[in-house]
Amino acid sequence: MLTFTDKGIFCAQGDFYIDPWKPIKRAIITHAHSDHARLGHQFYLAHEHSAPILRLRLGHHIHLQTVEYGKSLYSNGVEVSFHPAGHIIGSAQIRIAYKGEVWVVSGDYKLENDGISTPFEPIKSHTFITESTFGLPIYHWQKQDIIFNQIATWWQKNQQNNKQSVLIAYSLGKAQRLIQHLDTSIGNIFAHGAVYQTQQALVDAGFAVKTIHKWENNFTKNDLKGALIIAPQSAVNTPWLKRFEPYSLGLCSGWVAVRGTVRRRNADVGFVLSDHADWEGLLSAIKATEASRVFVTHGFSAIFAQYLNEIGIQAEEIKTEFGQEEEEEANGKLENKQIPEL
Ligand SMILES: [Zn+2]
Ligand SMILES: [Zn+2]
Repeated sequence: MLTFTDKGIFCAQGDFYIDPWKPIKRAIITHAHSDHARLGHQFYLAHEHSAPILRLRLGHHIHLQTVEYGKSLYSNGVEVSFHPAGHIIGSAQIRIAYKGEVWVVSGDYKLENDGISTPFEPIKSHTFITESTFGLPIYHWQKQDIIFNQIATWWQKNQQNNKQSVLIAYSLGKAQRLIQHLDTSIGNIFAHGAVYQTQQALVDAGFAVKTIHKWENNFTKNDLKGALIIAPQSAVNTPWLKRFEPYSLGLCSGWVAVRGTVRRRNADVGFVLSDHADWEGLLSAIKATEASRVFVTHGFSAIFAQYLNEIGIQAEEIKTEFGQEEEEEANGKLENKQIPEL
């Protein structure tokens, strides 16, 4: 029902693509990260919660139709519906059904309820297309409250040492989780412009997310004292960060679960927090679909597909252009060179 083309995942019967990477006529978008939602398509269909960020990132002129979770649309007899993927606000798995056959395209997903995204729901399918960003057994996540407590402890320790705390997090997804869950009684929290802009677009659209102050150049030393600053990876090693000195640099990412990542990315400390499923999460999500066939897209796709075959699930690696622009996934590319044994 779906084929894998050089433009993206294609449904010929329904005449649409899912998260295409080349300009086409009709695109169904799983979520607003830039490796899945690209410029140049004629028509976009996305979940209604993706709309504010899609318009912020792709422009207000895009031709965008939105839909809620669980509602069926039809395209030339093909039934299409969106189901929560738990990855970021508005993220969806796309279910496609035609003449009794069901495929589900996961996009990116995680199983833990982050308190912001609509939680992941397993959908039964015959064929499941999964990501495998953290598809190695070394990736195992702790509950997010444990990580938020680690961050709070680090922040307070920095305050005792008269340092600011700079937390590096992806501006769409990770930053919203931090803003929502960090303890504001500890001190002031400020955002880099990129983080602020994303958060404010969600606030303006009426989501139940907290507002955050953007760091402004006219702020005083007193405002800054003991503050925590949330910034994207692109701010590291730039003059923009210098004003916060002395500071400790913390990195929020699934990749810091592996030794060496923190040092390689010039950070002082790592907090293992990801918007992607860990190894067990991927496996339990796949089993819950009861799919007899799995296609594995971005991540450790070859090795993960091989493992699925070994445990009796027919699986195949698919080459896509996902994971190239999303910051967290892109960092993983470095690590593909050092894949440990399963
Ligand atoms: Zn994503
Ligand atoms: Zn992705």
